[in-house]
Amino acid sequence: MISDHLNQWLTEHADLLDSGHINEAELLPKLAADEVFKIGVPTSLGGVGGEVADSVEAIAQVASQSLTAAFVFWGHRAFIEYLLQGDNPELRERLLPSLLSGELAGATGLSNAMKYLAGIESLGIAVRKPIDDSKRLLDGVLPWATNLRKEGFVVAAAVEVENEQPLIAALPSHLAGINRSDDLDLIALRASNTASIKVENASLTDEWVISHSANNFLPQVRPAFLAMQCGMSIGLARRCLVAAKQQLGPTRSALRDDYEGVDRHLSHAGKQLQKGLSKQRFIKHPAELFAIRLTLAEVVANAAQLELQASGGKAYVHNAANGFARRWGEAAFIPIITPSVVQLKAELLRHQEVLFI
Ligand SMILES: Cc1cc2nc3c(=O)[nH]c(=O)nc-3n(C[C@H](O)[C@H](O)[C@H](O)COP(=O)(O)OP(=O)(O)OC[C@H]3O[C@@H](n4cnc5c(N)ncnc54)[C@H](O)[C@@H]3O)c2cc1C
Repeated sequence: MISDHLNQWLTEHADLLDSGHINEAELLPKLAADEVFKIGVPTSLGGVGGEVADSVEAIAQVASQSLTAAFVFWGHRAFIEYLLQGDNPELRERLLPSLLSGELAGATGLSNAMKYLAGIESLGIAVRKPIDDSKRLLDGVLPWATNLRKEGFVVAAAVEVENEQPLIAALPSHLAGINRSDDLDLIALRASNTASIKVENASLTDEWVISHSANNFLPQVRPAFLAMQCGMSIGLARRCLVAAKQQLGPTRSALRDDYEGVDRHLSHAGKQLQKGLSKQRFIKHPAELFAIRLTLAEVVANAAQLELQASGGKAYVHNAANGFARRWGEAAFIPIITPSVVQLKAELLRHQEVLFI
C-alpha cells in the first residue's frame, strides 16, 4: 500500500526521525508525496477512496519502519477525518486540498477532549468572552499536540462554552493568540513536531468551528481516531515479531511458543478491528474497540520483549542497523497515548463488560 520508495526512505531515516537529527520539516511532504493522506478520503473530495480500515493498514505499514512517521501520519489523518465528519463543509473545502498535499499540517489536540468525554478531566480551552453569536475570545492550554509544523499548522481542540455544549474548533497557527512552545524534550519520536499550545485571547469565528456539538461529534469520530491509533501498534508489533523470528534459531527454540502466541494475538486483534470497522460496531459499542486497543498495547510490549530475548546481548549494543533500541523507545509510547492503557482499563471497568477478543 505504501510505495517501495517511501518504505526505503523510512527505513533509512527511522533512527534520525526518532532522535530528531533530521530536518523535521521533511517528513510531512514525504508522506504526502506517497498520497497516504488521501487513503480513506472520498474521490469527490480529492482523495483516492477506500475506508478507515485502509488508513489503518497504511499507518501500520509506516509504523513498521518508524513510529515517529506513523504518529505524524495519524495526527494529520485524524485531523482530516474531523473535517470529513464535522458539520462545516466550507472549512472542509477550504483546508482539505492543502492538507492532502501536505502543505498545511493538521494536528489533533483532542486527547483532552477524549478524556473529557470519559469524565476524566475538564477541558483546557474555554470561551473567555463571547463577542456575538458567531465570534468568541478563547483562553487556555493544550499541553500536547504533534505535527505542529513551524511552517504552519491547524490544530483541532475542544472548547468549553458556558451554558452550551463544548464545540470542536480548528485553531490555525497564524491566528493571533495561538502560541506554540518549543518542541518538547522527548525521549523518542523527536522529529514529530510535538509541542504545547497556549491560547491567549484568540478570536474564534464560526468559519473555524468543525462541530458545534462536541458531545455528538467525539463519540462519532472516536472509532476512526482509535482505530487509526491501533495501526501504530499493529505495525510496530509486526516489525518486532519479524526481527524476533529472524533470531529464532536452535539456541532460541524455547521462545517459539511465545512467538506463536504473540503472533496469534496480533492477527486476531487485527481481524477483530477490521470486522468491527466494516460492521460499524464501534460507535454503539466503544468498549469493544477499547478492548482491542488494550490487547494491541499488550501485544506490542510482548513483541518488543520477544525481540529483546530472541536477540540477546546484541540488542543491548549500540547498533543503528538492528533498530532494536529505537523500537524499545517507540514501544514505550504505545501505552501512554490517549486513551492510555490506564484510562482504557478504568473505562472498561466502568462499562462492566467482559469481552473476549
Ligand atoms: C510524544 C507524545 C506525543 C503526543 N501527541 C499528542 C497529540 O498529538 N495530541 C494529543 O491530544 N495528545 C498528545 N499527547 C498526549 C498523550 O495522548 C497523553 O495525553 C499524555 O501522554 C498524557 O497521558 P496521561 O493521561 O496518562 O497522563 P496525565 O494523567 O495527563 O498526566 C500524568 C502526570 O504527568 C504530568 N504531565 C503530563 N504531561 C507533562 C509534561 N509535558 N511535562 C511534565 N509533566 C507532565 C501530569 O501533570 C500528571 O501529573 C502526546 C504525548 C506524547 C508523549
